[in-house]
Amino acid sequence: MKTAHCVPVLMYHHVSPETGPITTSPKNFESQIKGLVEKGYTTLTCNQFADFLAGKPTPPKSVLLTFDDGYLDNWVYAHPILKKYGLHATIFLVTGLIGEGPVRPCAEQSDNPLPRLPSHLECRALWAAGSTDSAMLRWSEVQAMREAGTFEFHSHTHTHTRWDQVSKTRDECLAHMRKEFEASRALLKAHLGEVSEHFCWPQGYFAEDYVRMAQEFGFQYLYTTQAYGQNLCASDPAHIYRFAVKNRSARWFLQRVWTAAHPVVGPLYNKWRSWKRKFRA
Ligand SMILES: [Zn+2]
Repeated sequence: MKTAHCVPVLMYHHVSPETGPITTSPKNFESQIKGLVEKGYTTLTCNQFADFLAGKPTPPKSVLLTFDDGYLDNWVYAHPILKKYGLHATIFLVTGLIGEGPVRPCAEQSDNPLPRLPSHLECRALWAAGSTDSAMLRWSEVQAMREAGTFEFHSHTHTHTRWDQVSKTRDECLAHMRKEFEASRALLKAHLGEVSEHFCWPQGYFAEDYVRMAQEFGFQYLYTTQAYGQNLCASDPAHIYRFAVKNRSARWFLQRVWTAAHPVVGPLYNKWRSWKRKFRA
């Protein structure tokens, strides 16, 4: 059987008509998802992706779609589109920001008005004000997406704090990180009945001591925001490359996915982009 050479891991945050950074419009998101279906791509679960890294045969055209933080718009817009096309994605939840309460209307049910969606900058202001319900998912919505099979859920810490930037010493920083892992695991366990081995670093920051601690807590698959590398069979599961999806249509998107996965073009593209970045810095 032919198997995938590389599995690109794609990173989204918002799918929303609100404009702003790290936001894909519902129109472009649908165009991208439809494009994947038309080109015959498989969207893997995290477990299937783990199997690929371990050398199990995987469909040649496979991708892993990931979303960070757990915004309400993922339920309102991304979930109905994934459901319509039968694809699957992952959300890394900041567990301390996920609320309680009933499921809110999503774009699938047209009779009820949709909740107002804050822009990315408004969401961050709401985090800072400690009032996250209008920006973030509720556990009931997490459950509904899980049951529908559109999304699976993993840890993205409990508070999304960059403790390395606000702690006085490294020991203090590590003590805070320990609490992040503990609290996040406890909430996932309480609401989903399980905690996986998949974890995503807030703002992409990690260091060797962070990796060791994550592994001690049972997180073997660590998702970075480093874009310019390929996830291949036998790649290090503690260093998974992801690239950000732009707010563009299927044409750009499919080209980017093809480039990322290509055995010759992919490494050349990554080298060129890394060089450009260094040159600019
Ligand atoms: Zn994040």
